[in-house]
Amino acid sequence: MALNREYYSNPVLNNLTEEQITNYQEERLREQVKYCYRSSSFYRKKFKEAGARPEDIRTLTDLRALPIFLNKDQERQNAIKSVETEGHPFGTHLCCPPEEIYLIGTTSGTTGIPTFTYTFTKNDVELIARGLGHRFYYNGVRKGDRVLFIFALGIYATSMSLWGIRDIGALPVDIDARAGSEIMLTFAKLTKPAFMATTVSLAEYLIRKAPEIIKMEVAELRMKGLMLTGEIGVNIPEVKKRLEMSYGCPVYDYWAPAGHAISITCRSDEYSGMHGIAPDLCTGFEDLVDPESKKPVAIEDGAIGEMVITSLKREAAPLLKYATGDIVQIFTSSCPFCGFPGKRLKVIGRSDDMLIVKGVNIYPSAIKNVVEAFTPSVTGEMRIILDNPPPRVVPPLKLKLEHGTGIAKAELEGLGATIAKAIHEKLKLRPIIDWVAPNSLEKSNRKTPIFEKRF
Ligand SMILES: [Zn+2]
Repeated sequence: MALNREYYSNPVLNNLTEEQITNYQEERLREQVKYCYRSSSFYRKKFKEAGARPEDIRTLTDLRALPIFLNKDQERQNAIKSVETEGHPFGTHLCCPPEEIYLIGTTSGTTGIPTFTYTFTKNDVELIARGLGHRFYYNGVRKGDRVLFIFALGIYATSMSLWGIRDIGALPVDIDARAGSEIMLTFAKLTKPAFMATTVSLAEYLIRKAPEIIKMEVAELRMKGLMLTGEIGVNIPEVKKRLEMSYGCPVYDYWAPAGHAISITCRSDEYSGMHGIAPDLCTGFEDLVDPESKKPVAIEDGAIGEMVITSLKREAAPLLKYATGDIVQIFTSSCPFCGFPGKRLKVIGRSDDMLIVKGVNIYPSAIKNVVEAFTPSVTGEMRIILDNPPPRVVPPLKLKLEHGTGIAKAELEGLGATIAKAIHEKLKLRPIIDWVAPNSLEKSNRKTPIFEKRF
């Protein structure tokens, strides 16, 4: 599809070769590293521990050779320390004076003290907003379009995309996910949005609620596209198909962990991976490690590893060598659907969701992928039951699945055996399946949990 030749959010990049884009990244990398070293005692300490000097980091290869500097735990420790020593919670890796901070955001799912991974100066916000907005532009959102935007808002990180939507001249209709389905659907009917941005589970929930609350099917809202994020789902073929059939429009998967690796899928029947449309803002597509050993994983077509983020051109809280905990698969070939020439990725799971069953790494998304293929005999809603803290699971793995509405009790045993066999063929583990009625597993307005923890 030739919707756009404007592949990248920074127009300069659209005229560069892949090699020139790398040079562009490396130029910014050298500046970013020097700036962080100069501005933060934490980064100076990390360079010292690594036995490296900032001037040693000239290329992406040099960067990949550095050890991990930051992860969520380290970030939290930095925040605790800066509360004590500097009187603010933004961490000892803060690189700008606190009075220069223009916008902050944190993630909704965290436990313990919140970390303000989204800490921006005004320049940061402007720089990132262009990338965030371009994701929506990539699939046809234009000036004057209304975008129904439903997430946990306010201090939460998803609010950042509002800056991007406004940046391209579209109008967000922003509704806090905690407002409830009646408000969401009433506003949808009233404002006639061209697009909706929300989570996969909420988009699915609204399909069921619309006839009851606004007396119409979601397809009658006549939206042109759904932009979904926050959960694995769009990359499961049955989920994508189900949403597209119900809403009567294409469904896209988008992402921007900590405002980095800004990416979105293009319009294609088959899942095409999220396209990295802002390689000038971070090196997330260029740096992977093994989630266990933290050793570098070579970047080649199909490579799987934990994404490591290094910011480019950030002022407030740039991240250097930040292990995100997100396990991704990178694709280096150009997109077969839209011709996007840069790198694409698929999110496979979180390193902390990883299970180890008989020595084999299993991500819940891989199990969900197999289960979803059995819809409508199942609803696709599921839980993995954990009797002990992960990652190690003593087999058999226990699954709780919702059967489909038309399935008789007598059919469940046979269906369970068929699904268990399919999982065994694909993943080499034979689960025990516990059946529950359709719509009996609780759905969250934010991220629906995949585990039922019994420990
Ligand atoms: Zn594409």
